[in-house]
Amino acid sequence: MIFAQIFEMINTGIVILDKDLKVYKWNKWMEIHSKISADQIVGASLFTFFPDLNTAWFLRSFKSVFSFGNFLFFSQKLHRYCFPFKAVNILGLNFEYMQQSCTMGPLRDKNNQIEYIFITVQDVTEIAAYEQKLIEMNVKDGLTGIYNRRYLEVRLKDEIKRAKRYSRPLSLIMIDIDFFKKINDIYGHQCGDYVLKTFSTLISSVMRKIDIFARYGGEEFCCVLPETCLLSATKVAEKFRKRVEKEIFNFDGKQMKITISQGVSERTEKITSADDLLKKADHALYEAKRLGRNKVFAIE
Ligand code: GH3
Ligand code: MG
Ligand code: MG
Repeated sequence: MIFAQIFEMINTGIVILDKDLKVYKWNKWMEIHSKISADQIVGASLFTFFPDLNTAWFLRSFKSVFSFGNFLFFSQKLHRYCFPFKAVNILGLNFEYMQQSCTMGPLRDKNNQIEYIFITVQDVTEIAAYEQKLIEMNVKDGLTGIYNRRYLEVRLKDEIKRAKRYSRPLSLIMIDIDFFKKINDIYGHQCGDYVLKTFSTLISSVMRKIDIFARYGGEEFCCVLPETCLLSATKVAEKFRKRVEKEIFNFDGKQMKITISQGVSERTEKITSADDLLKKADHALYEAKRLGRNKVFAIE
């Protein structure tokens, strides 16, 4: 009687299956999240309601628990979920399904024979969402959602090592928005933020997926281009320049345009560190500014 109440009230899903995979018990938690009542499912094969569970690993796990009486844990990290229940939106993250940690184990009769198998289901969506958010916060810039400087530096180091080891080309574009201070001064800081965000989305949409685009600081950005020589990187920068130049930014009923200056550098034998390559691109950027802005300048 008391156990039956715990079985129904506990904040964990509990399913009990017989050796033929027919549902023997289905607690309230499972009813709520699956929207399948115990009346409907008890006596039916679990696979009738959850055909996606009919997989080799599930059957193998089930057989092993029945034969050897061991316990099995299905971690969220590996499997994401066992039962496809709709997830609620947490921290703005859209998990398609509730993230679950599940345990499977034997239930024995008084002769110590395994009669049933239980599966417990824990909702760990919130923990998974926090984990994902923490990972993102470590590598992403809060305002623009693109990679942050820390991530850029780590990746640039790796890419330099890789390019050196395999003698592959590697280039870097440093981008700085021209007269950005004026945007803030004329239209306000919020408008400046909007321009930074929209600009980031714009570049992200025209660059190759293997390139690494990051906010280096303020209104400065970097794009790392693996497998790209100086000439090709200069063409990419030119593509960015033309695309940005023609974009009309709309904020609060006002329209504005911006231009960018870019410095391009390529890894050579002399360049041994990320800092060297960044310095060279920064130097090229300075030249692009000096030449009158809205320019691309490349240094061999
Ligand atoms: P230049 O053509 O020489 O690059 O001129 P500039 O005005 O773009 O350069 P400057 O370095 O003088 O000004 C950069 C401005 O960017 C100043 C700073 O307030 C603004 N800024 C930096 N970070 C942010 C941000 O996150 N949001 C907003 N709205 N403004 C920012
Ligand atoms: Mg600047
Ligand atoms: Mg600037």
